[in-house]
Amino acid sequence: MNQEQSLHQCAACGEQEAFLTYAVNALRRLCTDCLLKEHRNLFCPVCLHVHVTSPPPEQSILCLNCPSITHLACSSSSSADADEASSFTCPPCSDPNFSFFPKSHQNGAETVLGQESSNALVAAANISAVLMKNAAAELKKEAHEKIFAAKEAKQRAKEALGNLQELVRKQKALEKSSNPNPNKRKNSDR
Ligand SMILES: [Zn+2]
Ligand SMILES: [Zn+2]
Ligand SMILES: [Zn+2]
Repeated sequence: MNQEQSLHQCAACGEQEAFLTYAVNALRRLCTDCLLKEHRNLFCPVCLHVHVTSPPPEQSILCLNCPSITHLACSSSSSADADEASSFTCPPCSDPNFSFFPKSHQNGAETVLGQESSNALVAAANISAVLMKNAAAELKKEAHEKIFAAKEAKQRAKEALGNLQELVRKQKALEKSSNPNPNKRKNSDR
């Protein structure tokens, strides 16, 4: 089935048989690795904890190359020297071959889930949930705006119609008063 197939395809890396894919929006699905790599600002790339709120600046460290926010405690465990804090690059930026989650073609056999891979799945699922919630909220807002606009348009049309009826009524009254008996004039025209 077509639907079934696309559920295992990643829109970014072209992975065909991804272990899992996540909806980023209604049209785009990404594999675990690509989802995490495209949303580095949302989680710590070392411990894979998803940031509910941005961690305080004194407890986090920014990557030089990407918007990722790494816990300071996590960065010291990955980089050898504390002096490197000013030139910190996160794991995926430091290593071009880094992946948060193994791609299916990298280990032809069954995907073996280690602790890190499991954490990556949980992080990706949480991020996807946040993204979809935002997308849904956006749609809802749009729908509300449309309903509001439609109500407003209806109200304006009603007002315009009211004005028109009032105008017609006034016009008729004016005609009546300026010409109380049109038949009489017809007679005098003869
Ligand atoms: Zn991918
Ligand atoms: Zn961390
Ligand atoms: Zn980075």
